[in-house]
Amino acid sequence: MAKLNHHFSKLSNNYLFPEIEKRIATYRQKTPNARLMDLGIGDITQPIPASAVSALVEAAQEMGKPGHFRGYGPSEGYPFLRETIASNEYGKLGINIDPSEIFVSDGAQSDIANFQELFCTDNRIAIADPTYPVYLDSNVIAGRTRALLKTGRQGGVTYLPCTESNGFKPETPSVQVDLIYLCFPNNPTGVTIDRPLLKEWVDYARKNQAVILLDGAYSAFITDENAPKSIYEIEGAREVAVEFRTFSKSAGFTGLRCSYTVVPKDLKIYDYGKVHSLHALWKRRHDTKFNGVAYPIQRAAAALFTPQGQKEVQGLVGSYLERARLFRQGLSALGYTAYGGKDCPYIWCKTPEQVSSWDFFDYLLEEHKIVSIPGSGFGQAGEGFIRFSAFADPSSLGEALQRLKAG
Ligand code: PLP
Repeated sequence: MAKLNHHFSKLSNNYLFPEIEKRIATYRQKTPNARLMDLGIGDITQPIPASAVSALVEAAQEMGKPGHFRGYGPSEGYPFLRETIASNEYGKLGINIDPSEIFVSDGAQSDIANFQELFCTDNRIAIADPTYPVYLDSNVIAGRTRALLKTGRQGGVTYLPCTESNGFKPETPSVQVDLIYLCFPNNPTGVTIDRPLLKEWVDYARKNQAVILLDGAYSAFITDENAPKSIYEIEGAREVAVEFRTFSKSAGFTGLRCSYTVVPKDLKIYDYGKVHSLHALWKRRHDTKFNGVAYPIQRAAAALFTPQGQKEVQGLVGSYLERARLFRQGLSALGYTAYGGKDCPYIWCKTPEQVSSWDFFDYLLEEHKIVSIPGSGFGQAGEGFIRFSAFADPSSLGEALQRLKAG
């Protein structure tokens, strides 16, 4: 008799996005002609850079020529892309990452969700609250959490509150944790971290033989000079941190799918006295479960590092940040308290006094036909906030401000 993985039942029932879609569908049924301004979706709205398109087409044509055809590639990515990433994304920052430490993949979401497989279910995880829900849910499915608590939180998890009082920056816990999920700039708060605080995390992990899993999906958007672009800027991070990056947001690859994960060879796991290399384990896992990203997609990703590609990526990143700046400014002018939007195109907006995230979501939808994301959907500490995405097109952002202004 086949039996189910009973840990699935511990997942929170209303996964955020289906619940939002349900409420929008109900609203559309009532008011079919309403023109909604969608500031909820974190998907990109601008086309992929021309240099990536050309490389994609060229590589696809190459695949159709006898003698140039390529079948299975290396599961961890072609050397041309791994070398380009190592020199451009790390070498230029003075960080030494060897191409063999880079694993090219089809998405940061899947790599982050899968990485926990390398660890025993006894490990205690620490997760920022609020943050991207994938970290927690993948650990729940794996059975690394205990029974769901009455509070709605998962048992056996150390939540790291990111609130107004700590500037939305998670602080190192007083208890011992083993796996630490950090996201900088953080989705949904749009806030990043400075070097001294990230150093505290690296020092904590070194002291406690813990591992930091840092999601840098939005690192390309960092403008603050005091904020590290990579955790490997911090001394000792190579011994304790894995970094996940993606071309999804900076280069519009959400539909193409290409990302990479850095697992330094210095990162060791001290399991009951025995020393293991996390790099070797991830390579073993990758070789078993993944057959590589399509060659044309890897060529398209490599084209982003040509001078023309870099110019195009900077243009995309700059335009999303400009949208965020204008939208946040507009919200502030209307009297809202808003954070983020400077190093990431998400704006974290405080709901009016005594109004919950979901109630404010409903109010914006029904009264102003604006779609947002309720902050509480990213964790309990997100209650009292909503997330606006400045990936939305400028006309929607402008129209949304007009509607809010009209009251
Ligand atoms: N990490 C964070 C923090 C995200 O917000 C997202 C997407 O919204 C992802 C990862 C997903 O990245 P990818 O498209 O590479 O799977």
